[in-house]
Amino acid sequence: MASKELPAWNELPAGGIIIEPGNSEERYTGDWRVFRPVINQDKCIRCLLCWVYCPDSAFDIVEEPYETSTGRKYKFSLKIDYYHCKGCGICVEECPVNAIDFVEEVK
Ligand code: SF4
Ligand code: SF4
Repeated sequence: MASKELPAWNELPAGGIIIEPGNSEERYTGDWRVFRPVINQDKCIRCLLCWVYCPDSAFDIVEEPYETSTGRKYKFSLKIDYYHCKGCGICVEECPVNAIDFVEEVK
């Protein structure tokens, strides 16, 4: 013992050890979300800034062509993985064309 009251660092029980790197993907971590980001595919210009900034890698780029109401054509679309999105709102802030609405989560 380092002192009468406190154990030394190497006497502490192991904690916070990640024995399987990448295993957060297998956990449902989106259930504490209070607000949900929703992409407006018509406004989205596919700049991918949301994909870059999302701390949870919750944006999926899908091969789903899309034509906007004004005739702009895209070869892919973006989808949000709500299984992992925690509703931090960073994507909403970073989107340069306000194409992501932040709506109250209804469970
Ligand atoms: S709200 Fe946060 S976690 Fe969810 S998609 Fe946007 S940046 Fe990612
Ligand atoms: S940041 Fe906005 S415009 Fe850019 S890809 Fe994401 S939703 Fe679309």
